[in-house]
Amino acid sequence: MSQTIALIGNPNCGKTTLFNYITGANQYVGNWPGVTLDKACGYVASHDFKVVDLPGLYSLSPYSPEEIVSRNFLLGGKYDVLVNIMDATHLERTLSLTCELMIFNRPMVLAVNMMDLAHKQQIELDLQALEQRLGIKTVAISAATGEGIPELLDAIKTVAEGAAAAQTVAAHETAGQGAAAAHEEAAAKEQYFDAMLRCYDEKLAAAISRVMSALKSHATTSGNIAADQGNLAFVALSLLQQDKAYLASYHQDEQVMTAVTREVAALESHYQTDVEGLIAQERYAFIDNLVRQVVVKRQGKYHSLSERIDNIATNRWLGIPLFVAIVYLTYYLAVSTIGTMGTDYANDVLFGEYATNAAAALLTSIDAPQWLSGLVIDGIIGGVGAVLGFVPQMIVLFIILSLLEQSGYMTRVAFILDRLFRHFGLSGRSIIPMVVATGCGVPAVMATNAIDNINEKRITIITTTMMPCSAKLPILAMIAAAFFPESTLVAPGIYFLAIFSIAFSAYILKKDSAFKEEVSPFVLEMPNYTIPKLRNVVRSTYERCRAFVIKAGTVIFTTVVAIWFLSNFNFSAEGFGMVEVNDSMLAAIGSALAFLFIPLGFASWQASVAIITGLLAKENVVGTLAVLLGLGEVAEDDASLGAALHGEFTTSSAALAFLAFNLFSTPCIAALGAMKRQLNNKRMFAFAVFYLIAFAYSLSLIIYELGGFITGEVAFGPGTVVALVLVAIALYLVLRPERKQRTNLSIPVKQI
Ligand code: GDP
Ligand code: MG
Repeated sequence: MSQTIALIGNPNCGKTTLFNYITGANQYVGNWPGVTLDKACGYVASHDFKVVDLPGLYSLSPYSPEEIVSRNFLLGGKYDVLVNIMDATHLERTLSLTCELMIFNRPMVLAVNMMDLAHKQQIELDLQALEQRLGIKTVAISAATGEGIPELLDAIKTVAEGAAAAQTVAAHETAGQGAAAAHEEAAAKEQYFDAMLRCYDEKLAAAISRVMSALKSHATTSGNIAADQGNLAFVALSLLQQDKAYLASYHQDEQVMTAVTREVAALESHYQTDVEGLIAQERYAFIDNLVRQVVVKRQGKYHSLSERIDNIATNRWLGIPLFVAIVYLTYYLAVSTIGTMGTDYANDVLFGEYATNAAAALLTSIDAPQWLSGLVIDGIIGGVGAVLGFVPQMIVLFIILSLLEQSGYMTRVAFILDRLFRHFGLSGRSIIPMVVATGCGVPAVMATNAIDNINEKRITIITTTMMPCSAKLPILAMIAAAFFPESTLVAPGIYFLAIFSIAFSAYILKKDSAFKEEVSPFVLEMPNYTIPKLRNVVRSTYERCRAFVIKAGTVIFTTVVAIWFLSNFNFSAEGFGMVEVNDSMLAAIGSALAFLFIPLGFASWQASVAIITGLLAKENVVGTLAVLLGLGEVAEDDASLGAALHGEFTTSSAALAFLAFNLFSTPCIAALGAMKRQLNNKRMFAFAVFYLIAFAYSLSLIIYELGGFITGEVAFGPGTVVALVLVAIALYLVLRPERKQRTNLSIPVKQI
């Protein structure tokens, strides 16, 4: 009869790679955790194995549906050998799961994978010591190269046969000695369980054993234990750790409960800590000690320097202030100083004088009609030029961002923010998409594949585009320059407002049943700090700017031409032809929508049109305003966009509200498409759109009314009251109790 082999391990440890190698099955192997969602099965003909590839998990306290699938499978016990795939390059992290798996007391083999990588990284492992300390057969493999896999299969076979033989002996003895003796006999074979107990201090191990005996002897009286018989140690540990689900199912078992209460009290008074913490603590002490023995040499070149930097960069107290300072400096350089010099030059000189003069000269020389020069100078050069003018700021921003990324600092940001975001229902895993979103929302939304907790993933998809992407930077820079020329705080302030908005949204969404679930523990590799390679920085900056320029030449170009046309033509008494801008088709369309934005402080049709074109691509906001206001304000002395904006937004709080609405409402069409694909659920997508619009509208209203009231630009009125009500609603959403979970995951879920 064929034996069932279960492959289990952390996400990304190479289970699927191994599975494919030994079964020849054709299955997708991805780079992100959580690719293996379904239970994949296969056969190894040479050894007569049936193989199950389980979803990865970090611990037996499950957080995600995928982890619950794996744990249920383990609890079900329908397998012959457990093959624990370990990552040789991260032995310490992997061992935590191994220690937990021993609790099932089932035949087990350790497959230490990624040996090729370990060699490259000069990590030397004493696997014999590992095998001896744990008492589990250990084989070194590399699933990617196939190294060690025949040995692994043979080892599995040996272990499986050994276990089968032991069972036969037990069965024979049962026939002769009766059921009770067989029970004893089986218990004596608790090889792995003994090894598991070795992870803990004597006192704790004894307590676990006593609870197990209580469970065993009273098993028959209550009946609910029959299913748990194979998992006695697991149940005992769960009870000692006050796992609610197990406490509930055993609360009528007086003897068991008495034993548990007694042991918990004794342990807590002896160790002066709660049992859950105690177990974790002991396990880590054991692993730490084991790793010291097994990992012979592990010294990267920059190791100690990186560690020294991290003492500051990821320090509990210094980490966040340092991050804030870096963000401030980034925007200071990009938006307020160096970048602005370039942008001013591009706007005033390059496009404002050279391009315009050259085009005007050319148009005059060919005797172009008035509409053509209007289209070229006001439409194309004015509109596309205004967008392209921001390229210098973008270059500076992208250079700094790629320096931060390539040096390894961004990984630390994920780590620092993980501690913070955990309170809001997001983990550091959501930070990676957020970092990507500072470039573009589309890859950011796609990057949420890395998040294996479905609810965290959904929330990240909905909120991540709130980050100011490169296309939003021009809007930000435009408003900051026109209304807050003296302040260097506006641009970084908006960045933090985006982080705040994401945290706020995650927190209130998490409270809703559709999103609520525990956040998975975030395990992150910290690469050593490296000096960024100039070529990589240049290339990544070039790629990002190139995409921006291409868009300016295509989408933005088309839009500004359309905007120019719609704002210059209409049907009039003399038929279809050129008209005053305020009589144009676009003015009519914009005016019909303008009332929507009255509460936000900017009721002009131009602003409404800019918001609408911004949905196509956010760069359009600046391009559209440049075309529309350029036309309207030509009479003024200073015909620059900044001056024109002051006519448009009478107060700086209205300008900020306009900025906030553009930044935080729905992203551009491309990003919306990505969101729809990733959410893969029509109702959820409709909700996302609704939420983003409602959030941005409320935030903008609050900024306009309360901000304006504080600065004295806006008088107290009904709008102020509405803003206060909105603030109250926001507070309510934050403080309201959590709704009950809709999906009842019948497996106990607890936090580490
Ligand atoms: P799973 O999440 O455990 O199923 O992991 P996968 O099988 O999807 O592997 C995760 C990544 O590790 C993939 O990119 C694999 O190509 C890579 N990988 C797996 N095994 C090895 C190995 O032995 N050596 C190296 N260098 N890479 C490996
Ligand atoms: Mg997999």
